[in-house]
Amino acid sequence: MKITSIEIHLIRVPFDMGAAPRAFAGMAWTSVDSLFVRVSTDEGLDGWGEGWGHVACPATSAALSGIVAPAFIGRDAGDRAALMLEMQRRFHLHGRTGPVAYALGAVEIALWDIAGKAAGLPIATLLGGRPRELQAYASLLRYSEPPLVAAAVERARDQGFRHLKLHEERLDAVTAAREAAGPSTWLALDTNCPWSVSQAIEQARALEPLGLAWLEEPVWPPEDRRGLARVRAATRIPIAAGENAMSLHDFQGLFEAGALDICQPSVIKFGGIAAVAEVVALAKAHSVDYEPHCFYFGPGYLASLHLAAAFAPDLPFELFFGDLEASPYHDAVRARSGRLGVPAGPGLGLEPDMDVIRRYRLGDAVVVGGSS
Ligand SMILES: [Mg+2]
Repeated sequence: MKITSIEIHLIRVPFDMGAAPRAFAGMAWTSVDSLFVRVSTDEGLDGWGEGWGHVACPATSAALSGIVAPAFIGRDAGDRAALMLEMQRRFHLHGRTGPVAYALGAVEIALWDIAGKAAGLPIATLLGGRPRELQAYASLLRYSEPPLVAAAVERARDQGFRHLKLHEERLDAVTAAREAAGPSTWLALDTNCPWSVSQAIEQARALEPLGLAWLEEPVWPPEDRRGLARVRAATRIPIAAGENAMSLHDFQGLFEAGALDICQPSVIKFGGIAAVAEVVALAKAHSVDYEPHCFYFGPGYLASLHLAAAFAPDLPFELFFGDLEASPYHDAVRARSGRLGVPAGPGLGLEPDMDVIRRYRLGDAVVVGGSS
């Protein structure tokens, strides 16, 4: 089963976060960009992957079309593990994270989709699990002002979510969220690497009365595993991180340092499904839980659902909380009463609606190779 072409569709979908957008992490948060990647074969099967992400999508698209995709044309889509190892080695000097690595991960996810379709099985089943319903947590954007945070929490609760994650830094904002959510709501806090180690310890201690499920990425820089371990040792709040780890060996360092209670590899940043599965196994050996990082809504979101169904069925799953104008998967990706179904069809289990892709695509699709 030879790979004949790789298509890249960069889409931009506006969304409403229920308040005036707050810029953070270098983005304005009025729309979400997403890179949909289709790998086609000479046997008529094709698969979808996604490459990280957001404002970096054009860089990933260029790395994929200019460097990575041509190397896959004519290769055996069914020889996934060996092919990916070959390509990881071939392109390693362009960086073990960044656009080339994101491009490789996009292709890897698409090859799993093809494998599932060839076998007639969902990816969750190929991973040793099965499609199932998952508890979702609403992953709120940053609102900063306490009344806005409280209003967002109330909107999420009105939609049926009893599991919420904030992206806030201010203690008064987190306090307002807890008061709005009530004591029984599961509440986690993602800070996106703002603090020094000593600041993070001080903040964690101040946050302890708020009953957080975890504190995510409290330390700058994200690779400071010893600093993160010092924070973890100084607080009762479980520590989560890993969306910015670049390799299995990065996670090994985090685990050996005692830095984590929960690891969060991001499938579209991290090289794809098999790479995440390796982290899950290593995490188990260090008594660390696995939670997918999933702040996206394309094929990488579906891949994360299958990984969670196989490896994290009892933990709440991250779901971007913003009212998207449209999705190529329509309502299949929306939570109902705070719960999500993992698609049970072969591969990723859903095909994107090409009308939606075309409507929201920025420019033409980029195609490498010929048609199948
Ligand atoms: Mg995060």
